[in-house]
Amino acid sequence: MQTPILPNRFNPWQLAAESGRFDGELDLAVLPRLAALLERTDGTVKIALAARIDERGLRLIEGTLQTDLELICQRCLGPLSLPLDVVVSLGLVHDEAESVRLPDTYDPLVVAGNDLSIADLVEDELLLALPSIPRHQEIRECEANGYVPSAESEPDGGRRGAFTTLASLLQDSKRSN
Ligand SMILES: [Zn+2]
Repeated sequence: MQTPILPNRFNPWQLAAESGRFDGELDLAVLPRLAALLERTDGTVKIALAARIDERGLRLIEGTLQTDLELICQRCLGPLSLPLDVVVSLGLVHDEAESVRLPDTYDPLVVAGNDLSIADLVEDELLLALPSIPRHQEIRECEANGYVPSAESEPDGGRRGAFTTLASLLQDSKRSN
């Protein structure tokens, strides 16, 4: 099966009106805000998104994003594998005021104009799905990377570089919740 080429930008309102969909893959390397948090950026994200207008007239984009990320553990600074299977459930709105009318089951996606970047959309969804402080679940995995537990480094004295970066990225994100 051939992977269709994804457009860079699209009109989400029109896509919903046409019940259009996107299936394909994007390189993680083309998502700079996400790539900054990754140990390796040579992977891809599988995209399966469908747009529609539902019986209430809501314009929706739904689907899944699947990827395997390799993050940096914030305890030992070693590589941390994170398989992600993100369920996308977005309701298109023109502004913040309109997002209030959206049912709780949908996250508002504010689109002021007629133009949206697929990469931005995918990147925002992946960033939101990341743990705020990525780290190995088992301390043994950190010790295997040379981590030595100490009272000083837990829980707040540790290295929080990537966490700070992620927090500021989310603040910069155009998404409003
Ligand atoms: Zn670790």
